[in-house]
Amino acid sequence: MDILVVGGAGYIGSHMVKSLLAADHAVTTFDNLSKGYRDAVVGGKFIEGDLASREQLDRLFETCAFDAVMHFASFIEVGESVRAPARYYRNNFSNTQNLLDAMIEHEVGHFIFSSTAAIFGEPRYTPIDEDHPRQPINPYGKSKYMVEQMLEDYDRAYGLRSVSLRYFNAAGADIDGELGERHVPETHLIPLVLQAASGRREAISVFGADYDTPDGTCVRDYIHVQDLCDAHLLALEHLRASGNSSQFNLGNGQGFSVRQVIDRAREVTGREISMNAERRRDGDPAVLVADAEKARRELGWQPGVSSLDNIIETAWNWERSFFLQ
Ligand code: UDP
Repeated sequence: MDILVVGGAGYIGSHMVKSLLAADHAVTTFDNLSKGYRDAVVGGKFIEGDLASREQLDRLFETCAFDAVMHFASFIEVGESVRAPARYYRNNFSNTQNLLDAMIEHEVGHFIFSSTAAIFGEPRYTPIDEDHPRQPINPYGKSKYMVEQMLEDYDRAYGLRSVSLRYFNAAGADIDGELGERHVPETHLIPLVLQAASGRREAISVFGADYDTPDGTCVRDYIHVQDLCDAHLLALEHLRASGNSSQFNLGNGQGFSVRQVIDRAREVTGREISMNAERRRDGDPAVLVADAEKARRELGWQPGVSSLDNIIETAWNWERSFFLQ
C-alpha cells in the first residue's frame, strides 16, 4: 500500500516508517522538522512541509493516491499545553482538521490517529478500557479528544474511516539500535533515568512519593514503540478489510511505579542512578494502566516486546550508541 506518515521524523513516526518499509509498503513522510529529524527517516520519500498549509497539503495529495494516512505530528507536553493552549489547539486540532479536509477532497478514506490515555483524565477505575469516561483535564488531552470526536462526525458525514490508537506510556527504542527517542527537552521518565545512568544528567527527579500506590510513586503502563507500530499495521489491515471506525487503548496491561522503573534501570545498566525527591508534577494521576483487551480481540494485537527489561535495554542501547559517541 501507499502510506502517508505525517510526523514520520519524530519518535514514534520514525519507528513506524521503518516498520512499514519492512512490511513492503511504499512510504511518504511529511514532516515540518519542528521536533523531528531528517536523519531519523530511514527510507521512503521525504517531503518537508507543514500541516498548517492547505496549499502544501493539496500538493502533497497530488503527488500520490495514498491508501491511508497515519498521523503522528502533534505536540505532547502536558505542562506546556497548560501554559500555551493556543499552540496545542492550533497544532493538534486545527492542523489535523486541515489534514482531514485535504484527505476528503482528495478521496483518501483511511486514517490512523495517534491518540492518548490523556483523553480519559483522572481515572475513575483501572485498568482503563474504551468505555471509561473521557474527561481530559489538560489542553493536550482535550485537543486529542476533540480530534477523536471530529473523526466520528467525519465518518458519519464524509465516510472517512479511522482508527484512533490511544497510547499509554510509549517507551523503548528500535531493536536494531538505529532509532530512538530524541525529544528536546526530554520530559519522559525512561530516557531521563537512562541519562542519569549514562552520566548525561546528575540525577533523576522523582515527582511525588506520596501517591496512593504501593511505594508512593506513580504507576504507569509502559508499552514498547515497536508494539505500537505493530498495532498500526493491524489497524491498517482492519481498515483495508472494511472494518468500522474504532478506538483502541494500547498498553501492556501491567503497571510499574517510578521507583520500580529506576530499580530495573539500575539492574539492566549496572550503573548508579541518583534520585532526587521532588514535589508532585501537576496533572499526574496516581495510576494509569490500560485494558487492551479490545485491541487483542478485534485487531489480534499482542504486545510482544514490552517487558520492562526489554524497554529499558533497547532504550539504554540507544542512549549509549547515539548520545555517547
Ligand atoms: N516522572 C518523574 N520524573 C521525571 C519524569 C517523569 O518522576 O523526571 C514521573 C511522572 O511524574 C509520571 C511518570 O514518571 O508519574 C511517567 O511520566 P512521563 O512524563 O514519562 O509520562 P506521562 O505519564 O506523563 O505520559
